[in-house]
Amino acid sequence: MSKQPIYLDYNATTPVDEQVLEEMLPYFTSKFGNASSVQHTFGWDAEEAIDISREKVAKSIGAKPSEIIFTSGATEAINLALFGSYNEGEKNHIITSKTEHKAVLDTCEELEKRGAKITYLKVDRNGIIDLNELKASISDQTLLVSIMSANNETGVLQPMDEIGEICKERNILLFSDATQALGKTPLNLEEANIDMAAFSAHKMYGPKGVGALYIGKQSNLQPQAFGGGHEKGLRSGTQNVPGIVGFGKACEVANNLIENEIERLSQLRDWLEKELLQLGSTTINGEKANRLSHVANVSFENVEGNKLMRALKGLAVSQGSACNSSVIEPSHVLKAMGLNDRLAYASLRISLGRQTTEEEVRKAVQIIRGSVEQLRMQLQ
Ligand SMILES: *Cc1c(COP(=O)(O)O)cnc(C)c1O
Repeated sequence: MSKQPIYLDYNATTPVDEQVLEEMLPYFTSKFGNASSVQHTFGWDAEEAIDISREKVAKSIGAKPSEIIFTSGATEAINLALFGSYNEGEKNHIITSKTEHKAVLDTCEELEKRGAKITYLKVDRNGIIDLNELKASISDQTLLVSIMSANNETGVLQPMDEIGEICKERNILLFSDATQALGKTPLNLEEANIDMAAFSAHKMYGPKGVGALYIGKQSNLQPQAFGGGHEKGLRSGTQNVPGIVGFGKACEVANNLIENEIERLSQLRDWLEKELLQLGSTTINGEKANRLSHVANVSFENVEGNKLMRALKGLAVSQGSACNSSVIEPSHVLKAMGLNDRLAYASLRISLGRQTTEEEVRKAVQIIRGSVEQLRMQLQ
Protein backbone atom coordinates (compact mmCIF):
# COMPACT_ATOMS: atom_id res chain seq x y z
CA MET A 1 0.00 0.00 0.00
CA SER A 2 1.29 3.42 -0.90
CA LYS A 3 1.53 6.09 1.74
CA GLN A 4 -1.27 8.65 1.90
CA PRO A 5 -0.29 12.03 0.51
CA ILE A 6 -0.07 14.95 2.93
CA TYR A 7 -3.49 16.62 3.00
CA LEU A 8 -3.19 20.36 2.42
CA ASP A 9 -6.54 20.95 0.76
CA TYR A 10 -8.73 21.92 3.73
CA ASN A 11 -10.55 24.52 1.63
CA ALA A 12 -11.95 21.71 -0.54
CA THR A 13 -13.28 19.86 2.47
CA THR A 14 -12.32 18.92 6.00
CA PRO A 15 -12.47 15.69 7.99
CA VAL A 16 -15.32 15.47 10.50
CA ASP A 17 -14.09 16.37 13.98
CA GLU A 18 -14.23 13.42 16.44
CA GLN A 19 -16.44 15.33 18.90
CA VAL A 20 -18.78 16.23 16.05
CA LEU A 21 -19.06 12.62 14.93
CA GLU A 22 -19.74 11.45 18.47
CA GLU A 23 -22.55 13.97 18.86
CA MET A 24 -24.09 12.89 15.56
CA LEU A 25 -24.03 9.10 15.97
CA PRO A 26 -27.11 8.60 18.20
CA TYR A 27 -29.21 10.52 15.67
CA PHE A 28 -28.63 7.78 13.09
CA THR A 29 -29.75 4.97 15.37
CA SER A 30 -31.52 5.31 18.73
CA LYS A 31 -32.61 8.93 18.23
CA PHE A 32 -33.68 8.48 14.61
CA GLY A 33 -36.97 10.40 14.85
CA ASN A 34 -38.39 12.75 12.24
CA ALA A 35 -38.41 16.28 13.62
CA SER A 36 -41.85 16.78 12.08
CA SER A 37 -43.41 13.93 14.07
CA VAL A 38 -45.21 16.06 16.62
CA GLN A 39 -47.19 13.21 18.19
CA HIS A 40 -44.42 11.36 19.96
CA THR A 41 -41.15 11.58 21.78
CA PHE A 42 -39.03 10.37 18.83
CA GLY A 43 -40.06 13.49 16.95
CA TRP A 44 -39.71 15.78 19.96
CA ASP A 45 -36.14 14.60 20.60
CA ALA A 46 -35.18 15.30 17.01
CA GLU A 47 -36.86 18.69 17.06
CA GLU A 48 -35.12 19.62 20.28
CA ALA A 49 -31.76 18.59 18.84
CA ILE A 50 -32.37 20.83 15.83
CA ASP A 51 -33.34 23.75 18.08
CA ILE A 52 -30.14 23.40 20.07
CA SER A 53 -28.11 23.23 16.88
CA ARG A 54 -29.83 26.29 15.47
CA GLU A 55 -28.81 28.19 18.60
CA LYS A 56 -25.19 27.09 18.24
CA VAL A 57 -24.99 28.07 14.58
CA ALA A 58 -26.68 31.42 15.27
CA LYS A 59 -24.35 32.17 18.17
CA SER A 60 -21.27 31.58 16.06
CA ILE A 61 -22.30 34.26 13.55
CA GLY A 62 -23.87 36.80 15.89
CA ALA A 63 -27.42 36.01 14.73
CA LYS A 64 -30.71 34.90 16.27
CA PRO A 65 -31.79 31.25 16.00
CA SER A 66 -34.92 32.33 14.12
CA GLU A 67 -32.69 33.72 11.38
CA ILE A 68 -31.14 30.35 10.45
CA ILE A 69 -32.59 28.14 7.71
CA PHE A 70 -30.92 24.74 7.42
CA THR A 71 -30.17 23.54 3.89
CA SER A 72 -28.19 20.76 2.22
CA GLY A 73 -25.12 22.98 2.00
CA ALA A 74 -23.86 26.32 0.79
CA THR A 75 -24.80 25.73 -2.86
CA GLU A 76 -28.46 25.28 -1.94
CA ALA A 77 -28.35 28.26 0.45
CA ILE A 78 -26.88 30.43 -2.33
CA ASN A 79 -29.53 29.28 -4.80
CA LEU A 80 -32.27 30.02 -2.27
CA ALA A 81 -30.90 33.49 -1.51
CA LEU A 82 -30.45 34.52 -5.14
CA PHE A 83 -33.41 32.86 -6.86
CA GLY A 84 -35.58 33.54 -3.83
CA SER A 85 -34.91 37.28 -3.98
CA TYR A 86 -35.49 37.65 -7.71
CA ASN A 87 -38.99 38.07 -9.09
CA GLU A 88 -39.50 38.60 -12.80
CA GLY A 89 -41.00 41.99 -13.52
CA GLU A 90 -39.56 43.59 -10.37
CA LYS A 91 -36.10 45.07 -9.76
CA ASN A 92 -33.77 42.96 -11.85
CA HIS A 93 -30.20 44.11 -11.29
CA ILE A 94 -27.72 42.09 -9.25
CA ILE A 95 -24.13 43.09 -8.52
CA THR A 96 -21.54 40.43 -7.79
CA SER A 97 -17.81 39.95 -8.44
CA LYS A 98 -15.67 37.99 -10.88
CA THR A 99 -14.00 35.97 -8.13
CA GLU A 100 -17.10 34.42 -6.59
CA HIS A 101 -17.47 30.66 -6.19
CA LYS A 102 -19.15 28.84 -9.08
CA ALA A 103 -22.21 28.33 -6.90
CA VAL A 104 -22.80 32.10 -7.16
CA LEU A 105 -21.51 32.62 -10.72
CA ASP A 106 -23.50 29.75 -12.24
CA THR A 107 -26.64 30.84 -10.38
CA CYS A 108 -26.19 34.38 -11.70
CA GLU A 109 -25.75 33.01 -15.21
CA GLU A 110 -29.07 31.18 -14.89
CA LEU A 111 -30.73 34.32 -13.53
CA GLU A 112 -29.49 36.20 -16.60
CA LYS A 113 -31.37 33.69 -18.76
CA ARG A 114 -34.47 34.52 -16.73
CA GLY A 115 -34.16 38.24 -17.34
CA ALA A 116 -31.83 39.49 -14.61
CA LYS A 117 -29.02 41.95 -15.38
CA ILE A 118 -25.79 41.06 -13.65
CA THR A 119 -22.79 43.31 -13.04
CA TYR A 120 -19.56 41.40 -12.37
CA LEU A 121 -17.20 43.70 -10.46
CA LYS A 122 -13.52 43.36 -11.29
CA VAL A 123 -10.87 42.90 -8.62
CA ASP A 124 -7.38 44.33 -8.24
CA ARG A 125 -4.12 42.37 -8.14
CA ASN A 126 -4.84 41.43 -4.58
CA GLY A 127 -8.32 40.15 -5.32
CA ILE A 128 -10.23 43.03 -3.73
CA ILE A 129 -13.24 44.70 -5.37
CA ASP A 130 -13.21 48.45 -6.00
CA LEU A 131 -15.70 50.14 -3.67
CA ASN A 132 -16.07 53.07 -6.05
CA GLU A 133 -16.97 50.72 -8.86
CA LEU A 134 -19.52 49.11 -6.54
CA LYS A 135 -21.06 52.51 -5.73
CA ALA A 136 -21.11 53.51 -9.39
CA SER A 137 -22.79 50.23 -10.40
CA ILE A 138 -25.77 50.71 -8.11
CA SER A 139 -28.92 51.93 -9.87
CA ASP A 140 -32.59 52.20 -8.95
CA GLN A 141 -33.00 48.76 -10.53
CA THR A 142 -30.46 47.15 -8.17
CA LEU A 143 -32.06 44.43 -6.10
CA LEU A 144 -29.12 42.78 -4.44
CA VAL A 145 -25.36 42.77 -3.99
CA SER A 146 -23.70 39.36 -3.65
CA ILE A 147 -20.08 39.44 -2.46
CA MET A 148 -18.25 36.56 -0.81
CA SER A 149 -16.65 37.14 2.60
CA ALA A 150 -13.57 34.95 2.04
CA ASN A 151 -12.32 33.58 -1.25
CA ASN A 152 -11.96 29.80 -1.40
CA GLU A 153 -8.88 29.87 -3.65
CA THR A 154 -6.83 32.70 -2.15
CA GLY A 155 -8.34 33.26 1.30
CA VAL A 156 -8.69 36.96 0.42
CA LEU A 157 -11.23 38.75 2.62
CA GLN A 158 -13.44 41.38 1.01
CA PRO A 159 -14.06 44.60 3.00
CA MET A 160 -17.53 43.45 4.10
CA ASP A 161 -18.00 46.26 6.65
CA GLU A 162 -17.53 48.92 3.97
CA ILE A 163 -19.65 47.00 1.47
CA GLY A 164 -22.34 46.70 4.14
CA GLU A 165 -22.24 50.46 4.78
CA ILE A 166 -22.69 51.21 1.09
CA CYS A 167 -25.60 48.78 0.72
CA LYS A 168 -27.29 50.04 3.86
CA GLU A 169 -27.00 53.65 2.72
CA ARG A 170 -28.57 52.78 -0.65
CA ASN A 171 -31.11 50.42 0.91
CA ILE A 172 -29.97 47.40 -1.10
CA LEU A 173 -29.92 43.82 0.12
CA LEU A 174 -26.47 42.39 0.78
CA PHE A 175 -25.90 38.67 0.48
CA SER A 176 -22.54 37.08 1.29
CA ASP A 177 -21.21 33.61 0.56
CA ALA A 178 -19.43 33.22 3.89
CA THR A 179 -18.71 29.51 3.49
CA GLN A 180 -14.95 29.81 3.89
CA ALA A 181 -15.14 32.42 6.62
CA LEU A 182 -17.20 30.52 9.21
CA GLY A 183 -14.99 29.13 11.95
CA LYS A 184 -11.87 30.61 10.34
CA THR A 185 -12.23 34.32 11.03
CA PRO A 186 -14.52 36.18 13.47
CA LEU A 187 -17.89 36.92 11.89
CA ASN A 188 -20.63 39.28 12.96
CA LEU A 189 -23.22 39.57 10.25
CA GLU A 190 -25.42 42.10 11.95
CA GLU A 191 -22.54 44.48 12.62
CA ALA A 192 -21.45 44.16 9.00
CA ASN A 193 -24.99 44.89 7.74
CA ILE A 194 -25.10 41.58 5.89
CA ASP A 195 -28.75 40.66 5.23
CA MET A 196 -28.23 37.07 4.09
CA ALA A 197 -25.29 34.68 4.19
CA ALA A 198 -24.54 31.10 3.15
CA PHE A 199 -22.58 28.48 5.10
CA SER A 200 -21.52 24.87 4.78
CA ALA A 201 -20.63 22.39 7.55
CA HIS A 202 -18.10 20.32 5.61
CA LYS A 203 -15.71 23.25 5.19
CA MET A 204 -15.41 23.58 8.96
CA TYR A 205 -15.02 20.02 10.29
CA GLY A 206 -18.71 19.14 10.11
CA PRO A 207 -20.40 16.61 7.82
CA LYS A 208 -21.06 16.99 4.10
CA GLY A 209 -24.58 17.68 2.89
CA VAL A 210 -25.65 20.27 5.45
CA GLY A 211 -25.39 24.03 5.58
CA ALA A 212 -27.46 27.10 6.30
CA LEU A 213 -28.80 30.33 4.99
CA TYR A 214 -28.82 33.21 7.44
CA ILE A 215 -31.72 35.54 6.76
CA GLY A 216 -31.68 38.79 8.66
CA LYS A 217 -33.57 41.48 6.83
CA GLN A 218 -34.82 39.87 3.62
CA SER A 219 -38.44 39.30 4.65
CA ASN A 220 -40.04 38.26 1.39
CA LEU A 221 -37.74 35.50 0.24
CA GLN A 222 -39.54 33.05 -2.06
CA PRO A 223 -39.08 29.32 -1.38
CA GLN A 224 -37.55 27.25 -4.18
CA ALA A 225 -38.73 23.85 -2.95
CA PHE A 226 -42.24 22.96 -1.83
CA GLY A 227 -43.62 20.08 0.19
CA GLY A 228 -44.27 20.14 3.91
CA GLY A 229 -43.23 23.66 4.80
CA HIS A 230 -40.18 22.77 6.88
CA GLU A 231 -37.76 25.51 7.95
CA LYS A 232 -40.44 28.22 8.02
CA GLY A 233 -41.66 27.17 4.61
CA LEU A 234 -38.37 28.20 3.01
CA ARG A 235 -36.83 24.77 2.68
CA SER A 236 -39.31 21.94 2.53
CA GLY A 237 -38.06 18.41 3.03
CA THR A 238 -37.37 16.24 6.07
CA GLN A 239 -34.56 17.81 8.04
CA ASN A 240 -31.17 16.08 8.08
CA VAL A 241 -31.12 15.67 11.86
CA PRO A 242 -27.68 14.02 12.28
CA GLY A 243 -26.19 16.52 9.82
CA ILE A 244 -27.74 19.50 11.57
CA VAL A 245 -26.59 18.21 14.97
CA GLY A 246 -23.09 17.85 13.53
CA PHE A 247 -23.14 21.34 12.06
CA GLY A 248 -24.12 22.83 15.43
CA LYS A 249 -21.37 20.95 17.20
CA ALA A 250 -18.85 21.94 14.53
CA CYS A 251 -19.69 25.60 15.17
CA GLU A 252 -19.25 25.14 18.91
CA VAL A 253 -15.88 23.40 18.49
CA ALA A 254 -14.71 26.03 16.00
CA ASN A 255 -15.64 28.84 18.38
CA ASN A 256 -13.50 27.26 21.08
CA LEU A 257 -10.49 26.75 18.82
CA ILE A 258 -10.63 29.73 16.49
CA GLU A 259 -8.21 32.06 18.27
CA ASN A 260 -5.50 29.48 18.80
CA GLU A 261 -5.90 28.05 15.33
CA ILE A 262 -5.59 31.43 13.65
CA GLU A 263 -2.36 32.00 15.56
CA ARG A 264 -0.93 28.54 14.95
CA LEU A 265 -1.88 28.29 11.27
CA SER A 266 -0.80 31.79 10.36
CA GLN A 267 2.68 31.01 11.69
CA LEU A 268 2.87 27.81 9.67
CA ARG A 269 1.47 29.52 6.58
CA ASP A 270 3.84 32.48 6.83
CA TRP A 271 6.80 30.16 7.19
CA LEU A 272 5.63 28.10 4.21
CA GLU A 273 5.30 31.20 2.04
CA LYS A 274 8.68 32.55 3.09
CA GLU A 275 10.33 29.24 2.21
CA LEU A 276 8.62 29.02 -1.19
CA LEU A 277 9.48 32.62 -2.06
CA GLN A 278 13.14 31.67 -1.79
CA LEU A 279 12.72 29.78 -5.06
CA GLY A 280 12.62 33.16 -6.82
CA SER A 281 10.18 34.02 -9.67
CA THR A 282 7.46 33.02 -7.23
CA THR A 283 4.50 35.12 -6.10
CA ILE A 284 1.91 34.86 -3.37
CA ASN A 285 -1.51 35.72 -4.76
CA GLY A 286 -3.39 38.14 -2.54
CA GLU A 287 -0.27 38.74 -0.44
CA LYS A 288 -1.12 42.36 0.32
CA ALA A 289 -4.77 41.75 1.14
CA ASN A 290 -6.41 40.79 4.41
CA ARG A 291 -6.48 37.02 4.15
CA LEU A 292 -7.54 33.91 5.99
CA SER A 293 -4.63 32.66 8.06
CA HIS A 294 -4.44 29.12 6.70
CA VAL A 295 -4.41 29.64 2.93
CA ALA A 296 -1.45 30.16 0.59
CA ASN A 297 -1.98 30.60 -3.14
CA VAL A 298 1.39 30.51 -4.86
CA SER A 299 2.40 30.97 -8.52
CA PHE A 300 5.65 29.70 -9.98
CA GLU A 301 7.05 31.22 -13.15
CA ASN A 302 8.86 29.03 -15.68
CA VAL A 303 7.00 25.90 -14.65
CA GLU A 304 4.34 23.96 -16.52
CA GLY A 305 1.28 23.59 -14.33
CA ASN A 306 0.32 20.05 -15.32
CA LYS A 307 3.87 18.81 -14.86
CA LEU A 308 4.00 20.44 -11.46
CA MET A 309 0.81 18.70 -10.33
CA ARG A 310 2.19 15.36 -11.53
CA ALA A 311 5.41 15.97 -9.63
CA LEU A 312 3.51 16.71 -6.42
CA LYS A 313 1.95 13.28 -6.03
CA GLY A 314 2.96 13.19 -2.37
CA LEU A 315 0.80 16.21 -1.63
CA ALA A 316 -2.96 16.67 -1.76
CA VAL A 317 -3.15 20.31 -2.86
CA SER A 318 -5.17 21.93 -5.60
CA GLN A 319 -4.39 23.73 -8.78
CA GLY A 320 -6.85 26.59 -9.08
CA SER A 321 -10.28 25.51 -7.91
CA ALA A 322 -11.42 21.96 -7.19
CA CYS A 323 -15.02 22.89 -7.79
CA ASN A 324 -15.00 23.04 -11.60
CA SER A 325 -15.95 19.34 -11.78
CA SER A 326 -13.21 17.26 -13.37
CA VAL A 327 -12.18 19.70 -16.07
CA ILE A 328 -9.01 21.57 -15.22
CA GLU A 329 -9.41 25.14 -16.40
CA PRO A 330 -7.17 28.01 -15.41
CA SER A 331 -8.62 29.54 -12.26
CA HIS A 332 -11.14 32.32 -12.98
CA VAL A 333 -10.12 33.87 -9.65
CA LEU A 334 -6.44 34.15 -10.55
CA LYS A 335 -7.27 35.36 -14.05
CA ALA A 336 -9.46 38.09 -12.57
CA MET A 337 -6.45 39.08 -10.43
CA GLY A 338 -4.44 39.63 -13.62
CA LEU A 339 -2.58 36.35 -14.06
CA ASN A 340 -2.27 34.91 -17.56
CA ASP A 341 -3.46 31.33 -18.29
CA ARG A 342 0.02 29.89 -18.10
CA LEU A 343 0.80 31.34 -14.69
CA ALA A 344 -2.67 30.53 -13.39
CA TYR A 345 -2.02 26.88 -14.30
CA ALA A 346 1.33 27.03 -12.52
CA SER A 347 -0.34 28.03 -9.24
CA LEU A 348 -1.07 26.00 -6.15
CA ARG A 349 -3.71 26.49 -3.52
CA ILE A 350 -2.31 25.17 -0.27
CA SER A 351 -4.80 25.20 2.58
CA LEU A 352 -3.76 24.11 6.04
CA GLY A 353 -6.08 22.84 8.76
CA ARG A 354 -6.56 21.49 12.23
CA GLN A 355 -4.55 18.32 11.65
CA THR A 356 -1.69 20.03 9.86
CA THR A 357 1.62 19.66 11.67
CA GLU A 358 4.89 21.55 11.42
CA GLU A 359 6.47 18.35 10.15
CA GLU A 360 3.95 18.13 7.29
CA VAL A 361 4.53 21.73 6.27
CA ARG A 362 8.29 21.19 6.31
CA LYS A 363 7.87 18.09 4.13
CA ALA A 364 5.58 19.98 1.76
CA VAL A 365 8.08 22.79 1.34
CA GLN A 366 10.78 20.25 0.56
CA ILE A 367 8.65 18.47 -2.05
CA ILE A 368 7.47 21.68 -3.73
CA ARG A 369 10.91 23.27 -3.82
CA GLY A 370 12.47 20.12 -5.19
CA SER A 371 9.83 19.75 -7.89
CA VAL A 372 9.87 23.38 -9.00
CA GLU A 373 13.66 23.44 -9.19
CA GLN A 374 13.74 20.24 -11.21
CA LEU A 375 11.05 21.40 -13.64
CA ARG A 376 12.79 24.72 -14.14
CA MET A 377 16.04 22.93 -14.90
CA GLN A 378 14.34 20.82 -17.56
CA LEU A 379 13.01 23.97 -19.23
CA GLN A 380 16.47 25.43 -19.73
C1 LIG B 1 -17.48 24.86 -0.88
C2 LIG B 1 -18.02 26.20 -1.19
C3 LIG B 1 -19.34 26.36 -1.63
C4 LIG B 1 -20.25 25.18 -1.86
O1 LIG B 1 -20.60 24.57 -0.64
P1 LIG B 1 -21.34 23.16 -0.61
O2 LIG B 1 -21.83 23.04 0.79
O3 LIG B 1 -20.29 22.16 -0.94
O4 LIG B 1 -22.45 23.21 -1.58
C5 LIG B 1 -19.77 27.63 -1.91
N1 LIG B 1 -18.99 28.70 -1.74
C6 LIG B 1 -17.72 28.60 -1.30
C7 LIG B 1 -16.90 29.82 -1.12
C8 LIG B 1 -17.20 27.34 -1.03
O5 LIG B 1 -15.93 27.25 -0.61
